[in-house]
Amino acid sequence: MPEASDCPTFSFELYPPRDAAAEAALYQNLGALVAAGPEFISVTYGASGSSRDRSLGVLGHLLRETDVRPMAHLTCVGTSYAEAADLIREFLDAGVRSFLALRGDPPAGTRHEDLVLGDLGSAGELVQLIHRVQEERSPFTETPVPGFPGARRLRSGEKVTIAVAAFPNGHPRSRSGSQDIDTLLAKEAAGANLAITQLFFDADHYLGFVQRARAAGVTLRILPGIMPVTSAARLRRIVELTDERMPRTLLARLESADDPGRVGIDHAVALSRRLLDGGAPGLHLYTFNRSAAPLAVLRETGLLPAMSAFPPAPVQELA
Ligand code: FAD
Repeated sequence: MPEASDCPTFSFELYPPRDAAAEAALYQNLGALVAAGPEFISVTYGASGSSRDRSLGVLGHLLRETDVRPMAHLTCVGTSYAEAADLIREFLDAGVRSFLALRGDPPAGTRHEDLVLGDLGSAGELVQLIHRVQEERSPFTETPVPGFPGARRLRSGEKVTIAVAAFPNGHPRSRSGSQDIDTLLAKEAAGANLAITQLFFDADHYLGFVQRARAAGVTLRILPGIMPVTSAARLRRIVELTDERMPRTLLARLESADDPGRVGIDHAVALSRRLLDGGAPGLHLYTFNRSAAPLAVLRETGLLPAMSAFPPAPVQELA
């Protein structure tokens, strides 16, 4: 995976489907996302490992059925040091070379105050653990990996991509903006080589954050996380989940529009253009396991060639 490029990159985030219908919808959309040629596709990991098998299922599918680089989200919450190390080994054995190391949130219905973290206290410690597990690996690596044809065990010392989260508007539990910059700096010092931001709705929030991070000494690539929000209900839900500030103008436009999907895409396109003009190294799109809206954003931003190159996306997803 390139660490820097003159050409803006794009990547996608998926979440593990909860039931058979959601799984069918995901795989119906995945072909179009893969055909677009993303730098990587990341797969979220539920609080306390609640989605462990489903996340592994999607990652395994990406490894077996596509040539896209999968990125595994990993969290600290509720896991022991040994369990986390085993999971990292399992991923490395399966051929995963990219991770997003996260502290994780408490499971639904649990307060932050009652959060049981486990042995790993922060995302930075998880970054260090990934490096440690990778460095311990045997140099005898050409053994085939059962269940993953074509996969090869990673050589000791071979480079892995370790991404971390960044918060342009501050983590909701952080004491100050400078704490967020310090945390990112610490994660880079621990060995992270990429950052992906929480979603935001105003380009200045990202551009100002990157400027402050650079001034503090952060050098890693910081990919903006972009979510095309295609309904007012989805925007309310996402703001509730992330504790981000509600973008009132966007909400009003989504509420009054005959075609809210178009409003959401237009907003994401305008935001993406400003970010790229301002020097963002690429776009990381939160897809909701859909393809039409994220691909429309990329196309209209100029990061994708003509539509005809890609399989048609299901039309009902903008509703
Ligand atoms: P850290 O880097 O360890 O901390 C980040 C900042 O938050 C620091 O300033 C830290 O001091 C502060 N902080 C964090 N928690 C607290 C607290 N309880 N009290 C006080 N300060 C605190 N979560 C999942 O469970 N699964 C996922 O797959 C997932 N994917 C994500 C992908 C992206 C791109 C992003 C941005 C977030 C994702 N999250 C996911 C959410 C993430 O786990 C939470 O935001 C978590 O609270 C902080 O994680 P971190 O890795 O940034 O933590």
